[in-house]
Amino acid sequence: MTADLLPLLKQNFGFSEFRDGQAEVISATLQGRDSFVLMPTGGGKSLCYQLPALTMPLVTIVVSPLMSLMKDQVDALKANGIAAEFINSSLSREDILSVFARLRRGELKLLYLAPERLLQPAFLTRLEDVGVSLFAIDEAHCISQWGHDFRPDYMALAILKQRFPQVPIMALTATADAATRHDIMQQLTLQQPYVNQGSFDRPNIRYTVQEKFHPLEQVISFLQRQEGAAGIIYCASRRKVDELTEQLKQRGYNAAAYHAGLSNEQRDKVQDAFKRDDHQLIVATVAFGMGVNKSNIRFVIHYELPRTIEAYYQETGRAGRDGVAAEAMMLFDPADIGRMKRWLDAEPNQQRAEVSWQRFLAMAAFAAAQTCRRLVLLNYFGEARQQPCGNCDTCLQPPQQFDGLELAQKALSCVYRVGQRFGMHHVIDVLRGSQSQKIIEMGHDKLSTWGIGKEQTHDYWLSILRQLIHFGLLQQDITAHSVLKLQPAARTVLRGEVSLSLAEPRIETAKREPERLV
Ligand code: ADP
Ligand code: ZN
Repeated sequence: MTADLLPLLKQNFGFSEFRDGQAEVISATLQGRDSFVLMPTGGGKSLCYQLPALTMPLVTIVVSPLMSLMKDQVDALKANGIAAEFINSSLSREDILSVFARLRRGELKLLYLAPERLLQPAFLTRLEDVGVSLFAIDEAHCISQWGHDFRPDYMALAILKQRFPQVPIMALTATADAATRHDIMQQLTLQQPYVNQGSFDRPNIRYTVQEKFHPLEQVISFLQRQEGAAGIIYCASRRKVDELTEQLKQRGYNAAAYHAGLSNEQRDKVQDAFKRDDHQLIVATVAFGMGVNKSNIRFVIHYELPRTIEAYYQETGRAGRDGVAAEAMMLFDPADIGRMKRWLDAEPNQQRAEVSWQRFLAMAAFAAAQTCRRLVLLNYFGEARQQPCGNCDTCLQPPQQFDGLELAQKALSCVYRVGQRFGMHHVIDVLRGSQSQKIIEMGHDKLSTWGIGKEQTHDYWLSILRQLIHFGLLQQDITAHSVLKLQPAARTVLRGEVSLSLAEPRIETAKREPERLV
């Protein structure tokens, strides 16, 4: 069956073979089956409905959440001589009427629209009159409330199966999470769908996580190695986006901000400029996402820990869609975990808070992993893999362990000497023998632990203290200015009754930049 399709593929799209999974989905669709297409970004999902659309007698309706994406796809199809149109608010009334006329005359092979337009009663009736061959629901995860791109309009798509019981539905997404998957199939009431689940591996993306010390400098150091290539930097808040954009501009980078606080017009403008390579960098919140149809994004930086592995995977997946080597770099500060916890504590819906927390913990575990990152990622998506990838930071530069007992003793006894009443930076200042006014005033320069950690840098100690927290030897009291307190287990370390292996901190700072700006 699929052999017959090769000439069509060649003739209409110029490709000589199918990519993994495409041929199977296409033949299931041509047999009238519902299908569920899970493919990573760049995997070639569109072709799964575009090719059947050409051979089926009636129109294929493509539901897409984004205007820019519709236009791109329709332009590309038209360039290949395929009868495709879209309807959205960017069209004039006359244009819309002319698309309706073509639809009525049965001229269209593909029609793209947003769910709210499709579900207008008059439009559904119109479709019943002309008949539909296939519904393709792109970005189908938008239907799931658990997903990070939930769109209420998508939920109403549930009625398609009732209104058009004979018409196959194809749901497509690059979101791999099992709960979301289940949700999509259930809400669209897919009937024994053909499920295509390709691997979610993106072998050309290199995953790295850097411990966060001086984020701006770390980002600049990273950018210096990118030689002007295009990239996205994700931040957790609008405020941070604006601030970082300004800082990067001051350093001479061509950066633009993108978040939901900007007007639609401004956002479109930024996105277009990025696409044309007029901006090198987009600094963005999660609002910058679906529909970023640019194949030569060379890197994605996460300035803060994303909330879920799914979001992380989606966001990093925007790099390297052309298949050429790309980088996903994340800055990780373990303190982000506590921040998230407090934030979730304010969430009134208990169940929702719990699910979000579990998902966030999985994300944090990825960031803290000492094993191959790709394994953590793919196994989260259920791909039972065991072979380390060779293209992530832990594979390329395995963490170095060393006997950390003495360092730990120095740090713990210093916490004890300052009376368990100070935070990380003060403890480090004492260890490093600082003569700051605060230290002198407190008399902390008289402590036996003053200056016993001179050989190590500030950041080095920061990493060590974070590890001690991680091991449950220290606790940061988040209710009281993040004061460091000893935990019971610290006693055995102080007495030297146990051995303690720590990871050698990895500290990168920008070339030719001052070591510390703040
Ligand atoms: P997705 O929607 O899964 O992110 P797209 O449908 O945009 O991916 O496809 C990604 C790229 O792969 C597009 O440039 C598309 O033209 C190309 N492509 C799709 N199928 C094939 C194929 N069989 N052979 C070669 N290129 C393909
Ligand atoms: Zn690896």
